[in-house]
Amino acid sequence: MVDTRYIFVTGGVTSSLGKGILASSLAKLLQARGYSVTLQKLDPYLNVDPGTLNPYEHGECFVTEDGAETDLDLGHYERFLNLPTSQANNVTTGKIYQTVISKERRGDYLGKTVQIIPHITDEIKRKVKYLGSKGKYDIVITEIGGTVGDIESLPYIEAVRQLKWEMGSKAIVIHLTLVPYLAATGELKTKPTQHSVKALLETGVQPDVLVLRTEHDIDDNIRAKVALFCNVAIEAVVQSVNVPSIYEVPIRMLEERLDVTVLKKLDLPVKEAIDLDSWNEFLYKLKHPANTVEIALVGKYVELHDAYKSISEALVHAGAANNTKVNLRWVHSESLTGSTVENKLEGANGILVAPGFGNRGIKGKLLAVQYARENNIPFFGICLGMQMAVIEFARNVMKLEDADSTEMNPKTSHPVIDLMEQQKEVIDFGGTMRLGAYDCRIVAKKSNVFNAYNKLTVRERHRHRFEFNNNYLSQFEKAGMKAVGINPETDLVEIMEIPSHKWFVGVQFHPEYRSTVLNPHPLFVDFVKNALS
Ligand code: GLN
Repeated sequence: MVDTRYIFVTGGVTSSLGKGILASSLAKLLQARGYSVTLQKLDPYLNVDPGTLNPYEHGECFVTEDGAETDLDLGHYERFLNLPTSQANNVTTGKIYQTVISKERRGDYLGKTVQIIPHITDEIKRKVKYLGSKGKYDIVITEIGGTVGDIESLPYIEAVRQLKWEMGSKAIVIHLTLVPYLAATGELKTKPTQHSVKALLETGVQPDVLVLRTEHDIDDNIRAKVALFCNVAIEAVVQSVNVPSIYEVPIRMLEERLDVTVLKKLDLPVKEAIDLDSWNEFLYKLKHPANTVEIALVGKYVELHDAYKSISEALVHAGAANNTKVNLRWVHSESLTGSTVENKLEGANGILVAPGFGNRGIKGKLLAVQYARENNIPFFGICLGMQMAVIEFARNVMKLEDADSTEMNPKTSHPVIDLMEQQKEVIDFGGTMRLGAYDCRIVAKKSNVFNAYNKLTVRERHRHRFEFNNNYLSQFEKAGMKAVGINPETDLVEIMEIPSHKWFVGVQFHPEYRSTVLNPHPLFVDFVKNALS
């Protein structure tokens, strides 16, 4: 039986310091030293999952193999560790309360008053220990969303306090804070860090390691000062300076010996060998590209790049695989009209139409597809992007003028995209889409996708309610758009291509969720390759 160790990562001073990247980078180093590691995110909001959240609120919703709609940090975990996560890797306050309240309704608490302590905190602890109980992981790293001092994260911090007390040296806390630079006096300031550690101490939690986010190198004097005021050993005060790529953070943390400090604190042997060869090879390619390519990403949330995190990261991985720097041109779908489309998309080497829901920005997405199709520019349509490609083709090539998706126009006389049968009875919004991984059979060996995957059955993740309407399939195929990927059980169309076009691929699934640093997604790699040529 593995004697699992637990690392908790908390954040102080401000949000957006990059707890997810820090946790992923540490996990990467521990994995490279031979430990099996998983990462978990605790989110202090009341939504049961982020599936119902507007991307403006929360960035992208990441989907796991087993169909959980999760925080985008799980995407980082998978991209860094090259391992899938699952339902159990993301817990929200909504989920915790839902469990506790249904236990109360079942009578499980035997007449007791149900309270935040111990019932909510026990449930949090159970969810943390669950991952360790599987016997698979040497180390579980749990990231606590929000910032220390937030009212809503208090039960989580209390659960951490109790777990630390119970587990002794088998659990440690890493606190990530900010050391701001005051340009007026040319100084780095430690006071916010001191205050944030004080806030943590007030809840009974003594951090074991401090990671200081900074824009300038932190000297030994400042480290010593922070160590002294925060009761942390000086070698456990680590700096994390801004770097051009998130994928460099593990290397910076290695230089700071964060992994060694952590292993020692956890009483685990520090295996001398560290295997970061393929990671370093990726970084080398990332930093020394031989070519540049520009991809236009068309979506309605482009003001918030986090809304398309997995797509932009998949393009970084695919770029490196092609020794190419991928420059993204963020194009707001609402800014595309008949008179602007040429101007906005001209010169792009590839056009990607993003996933999405609802009517806003739809006209612009259709114009982007048309521009790519008519100008023979490599086109990649993902989920809603694929559905737009189908509608555009139906309207402009097959001359089915009011062809549409019933999501946008329930009264269309040509519902080329229609609600899936199983969705017709669905009332609740949360967690009810077709979610998670399903098989897709490639039915045409002469296709871009077979070329890219080089296999006949692939498995990809999904998040949708609507699908291609198979009643129109033969009409589409006659007109020159082919279904080249099909779900073997339901015949649902998974991939559409236009064989006469240079590279025109629409996928109903989300390949971006499966792309990792060490395993760039073949479709993204092939898209960038074709954009290059
Ligand atoms: N809104 C579309 C559907 O539900 C596409 C979803 C998506 O792009 N993820 O089918």
